[in-house]
Amino acid sequence: MASHDHEKQAAMDLAEDSRQTSWDHPSFVAELFKGNFRFDLISPFPEQNAEDKRIGDEYMEKVRVVMEQYIDPEKVDREEEVPREALRALADIGCFGLKIPKEYGGLGMSQTNYNRIVSYIASYCASTSVYISSHLSIGVPQPLKLFGTKAQKEKFLPRLAKGAISAFALTEPSVGSDPAKMATTATPSEDGSYYLLNGEKLWCTNGPVAELLVVMCVTPPKIVNGKEKKQISAFVVDTDTPGFEVVHVCRFMGVRGIQNGLLRFTNVKVPAENLIGKTGDGLKIALTTLNTGRLTVPATCAGGGKAALRHLQDWVNDRVQWGAPIHKHQAVGKKLADAASNTFAMEAINDLACALAERGDADIRLESAMAKYYCTETGWKMCDDVLQVRGGRGFETAASLRARGEKPMAVEMSMRNARISRIIEGTSEIMQLFIAREAMDTHVSRVMPILMPRPGQKDSKFQAILKAFKFYALWYPKTWMPASIGVTTKHLSKSNVDHLHYIARTAKRLARTMFHTMAKFGPKLEFEQLVLASFVDIGTDLFAMSTCLARAEKLLSRNPNDEDLQNLVDYFCSSARERIKNNLMHVSRNHNRLLNKVSRAYAAGKFAWMDDAIYKGTATHFDDGAPKRVSLNIPQEEQVPK
Ligand SMILES: Cc1cc2nc3c(=O)[nH]c(=O)nc-3n(C[C@H](O)[C@H](O)[C@H](O)COP(=O)(O)OP(=O)(O)OC[C@H]3O[C@@H](n4cnc5c(N)ncnc54)[C@H](O)[C@@H]3O)c2cc1C
Repeated sequence: MASHDHEKQAAMDLAEDSRQTSWDHPSFVAELFKGNFRFDLISPFPEQNAEDKRIGDEYMEKVRVVMEQYIDPEKVDREEEVPREALRALADIGCFGLKIPKEYGGLGMSQTNYNRIVSYIASYCASTSVYISSHLSIGVPQPLKLFGTKAQKEKFLPRLAKGAISAFALTEPSVGSDPAKMATTATPSEDGSYYLLNGEKLWCTNGPVAELLVVMCVTPPKIVNGKEKKQISAFVVDTDTPGFEVVHVCRFMGVRGIQNGLLRFTNVKVPAENLIGKTGDGLKIALTTLNTGRLTVPATCAGGGKAALRHLQDWVNDRVQWGAPIHKHQAVGKKLADAASNTFAMEAINDLACALAERGDADIRLESAMAKYYCTETGWKMCDDVLQVRGGRGFETAASLRARGEKPMAVEMSMRNARISRIIEGTSEIMQLFIAREAMDTHVSRVMPILMPRPGQKDSKFQAILKAFKFYALWYPKTWMPASIGVTTKHLSKSNVDHLHYIARTAKRLARTMFHTMAKFGPKLEFEQLVLASFVDIGTDLFAMSTCLARAEKLLSRNPNDEDLQNLVDYFCSSARERIKNNLMHVSRNHNRLLNKVSRAYAAGKFAWMDDAIYKGTATHFDDGAPKRVSLNIPQEEQVPK
């Protein structure tokens, strides 16, 4: 095997070993991919209780006061900085401790309230929300809450709750989507009392202003079955430690007020008691942190959708072209119907994912990844549609609109801010692969031990074949049997009940199509990413339809005659069915072989002849000055809530 293949296999093995695998409450989506439509797992739709909602609403009012007093979102975008006073005021009302338990000095908010509050902040100023979510969703508090010792929690959480900003440092210049191949090292001292960290971490949000970081590093390898196995471990690092430096502050097309940088560690001495979990647990800690951590990304997309719907309504009524308000032109109307129904779906998916995360015992890997994937892709498409509906004004800045005496809707800024969501905390392509891996688990776990036995595997090849045979003899015929929705639905219209039956049928069809495809391609299925993506998209649409129908059932139980809601859900489900039809067709009939040929020819430079009439020089005189690092560390005495 070439060394490149060895490296790839080692990285995949490490990623495989870092998957979380045991849960009490089954995943609705995992069941769907097996062909089981378990509507009972999400219906009745879980709702935030009134008392918890009141706590969240009251807190949002406090946040509103701070934001309006200290933050001008357009100025943040222009000057690339969230004002220090705003961060201090947010720290004073406990915003940096929103999700930290009360016993450690935080506000102990529920996951649902936390997401509502971050999304509320994002609907006003995206950069400010990133400060909070990078700190609380993925920064030091989250891995410590999940994996920290009591001593670590007592030492760090009160400080973090008061406003000591933290960050999550995983990405490196050479590794982004594939963190298993990271190079930053943590070398243990001879007496085991400390580690020396060396390496670089890139694009660390909050990194340039953080007091504490969670840093994933390579620790010495372990020998497993006679082979060296790479170990990744997670550490809490105080940025006051000598050897830590911010090498560069990065600038971006959107969320311009964030602080994000390239960080360097040169013999940074970290006490052994700052190791989170055990050595070798680092990647699992990072991935598990992201399972819940990434939920704030889709929440902000849903919030953005709701804000856009609210702001657009006057415009589509007031703007008259060709003798009619523009919403009456069907081409515009489609964008509005899509925006309204997709926002309903985004919110339902988010609320469900939050409620599942709140339970603590539920397998939310798929639901969380799908929420992220679906909402960021849908939210982005919606941004584009909203800009289009605003016409030229969508492309104009809010300041320019204001200066001409028009309503300053900052659509172009929202679009710049939203774009990063499809990249951070797992790109859309990586979310697809992640979901596909989990979706295929039924087959991977049974077929791979036969096709590609791993060293140290429990079962012999013969035992694996026997087990697989027993399983498929029962499972496969079931995928051809009539599907039932298993629950009674009193409040949905006939067409919406029909959608439920469609989901149950299609889940079975999806499960057996996935099985047939696995049988056809074997281990090579890994390279059929677009076929896998079609499976993921079908599963995601089935999940979105189910979630919308579960929420609609709940809402309609209170107001059975709400025809507009019936139509909204019916429209969403009908559109989803159209997408599913196309994706099913893509699995059996596509031109992916041709696509491979064209993309490989391009990468090999075969189309260089297209380079005609483009600038090929190397002008370098547009440098816009030295990178700036704004000191936003809030002195401890200022952080204590008054
Ligand atoms: C504003 C911003 C904030 C960030 N904040 C943080 C942070 O706080 N902490 C942190 O650790 N990181 C952070 N990141 C890094 C971010 O998580 C990475 O950018 C992201 O994981 C993608 O990695 P990459 O950019 O290196 O892309 P690459 O991994 O190089 O990927 C390039 C392209 O190839 C695709 N690709 C890669 N592998 C595959 C594959 N196997 N199959 C199909 N497609 C593939 C990707 O989807 C992408 O489209 C941030 C980045 C930005 C820009």
